[in-house]
Amino acid sequence: AKTWVLTKHFDGFPKNSNFELRLEQLPEPKDGEVLLEAVFLSVDPYMRPFSRVRMKEGDIMIGTQVAKVIQSNNAAFPVGSHVVGRCGWRTHTVCDGTGLTPIMPDWPQDVPLTLALGAVGMPGLTALYGIEEVLGLQAGETLLVNAAAGAVGSVVGQLAKLKGCKVVGSAGSDAKVAFLKELGFDEAFNYKSVGSLEEALKKASPQGYDCYFENVSGPFSSVALPQMKDFGRIAVCGAISLYNDTMPQTGPYPHLTMIFKQLKMEGFMQSRWEHKHPESLKRLMAWVKEGKLICREHVTEGFENMPAAFMGMLQGENIGKAIVKV
Ligand code: NDP
Repeated sequence: AKTWVLTKHFDGFPKNSNFELRLEQLPEPKDGEVLLEAVFLSVDPYMRPFSRVRMKEGDIMIGTQVAKVIQSNNAAFPVGSHVVGRCGWRTHTVCDGTGLTPIMPDWPQDVPLTLALGAVGMPGLTALYGIEEVLGLQAGETLLVNAAAGAVGSVVGQLAKLKGCKVVGSAGSDAKVAFLKELGFDEAFNYKSVGSLEEALKKASPQGYDCYFENVSGPFSSVALPQMKDFGRIAVCGAISLYNDTMPQTGPYPHLTMIFKQLKMEGFMQSRWEHKHPESLKRLMAWVKEGKLICREHVTEGFENMPAAFMGMLQGENIGKAIVKV
């Protein structure tokens, strides 16, 4: 198997020298075990902050992949079937089924398997739970989402439109803004070229925002919070603008805004609703099949390009879900 090892913990933005491509000799699968071959691998923002808490130097990079079962001593995973597995950055894996989920049994022929890593996978679930469980988004409300052209954000905006909301999205390029308009966002702007973020937020929704789906944090939040309506709700999903900081950012502290506007802010991880995943994936798939959920992907070819794909995603090269095709 080829593997990508984290040789040195990230210090600031990841560099090529943090990673090393290594070969590993795999054992023959024993009773109950399977041999998997990676087909598509996911690169996700969480890998950056989780690397510190979930990994030590010398470990294979964490991550999820769609893999094909090529040898099997486990009836739950027949040869030729596909699974979503938390196998890490590796081309081949021998395992006993722990951490593997068979691809939905009735996965439609005409839907790419890559969606199991995106809109009909973890990022799609994150968008759905943030909207329904955390925000309790209601028809007629106005929602703000940042990193809106990414894997989670693009689903957030589309689900909010399906619920009958006004949706405002921000993203880091004009091409991304055009994509958001294609998806049906009511307002979208490029936060890098907009000049005054405060003015852009006010212009997009002069009445303010009922809900804010937070993917970015940092200075963006400091400007966005005062634009909330009274009793506004904020789902803190991610904080990508902070992930590569070498020193924790301090302030400005939002508490006064939160008090005066009586805001409600809740952090969440999609894993809280694991018991709902099967049903939720069916709902996401139904929206895809009905053409109500448009999924774009940014595919990098070649397992050897995993670090480049990961760093590119952190820098905003992706429109939609960032994927690596082996
Ligand atoms: P994306 O597909 O959105 O890719 C990351 C994007 O973040 C980039 O394309 C870039 O877009 C944007 N970005 C990077 N740096 C900055 C910055 N400094 N300021 C603003 N935007 C930045 O990733 P995901 O959709 O997978 O993840 C989005 C967020 O959701 C992340 O914060 C992630 O950690 C979080 N998340 C949380 C989960 C949970 O359970 N709580 C689960 C999954 C994801 P741009 O060009 O717009 O800058």
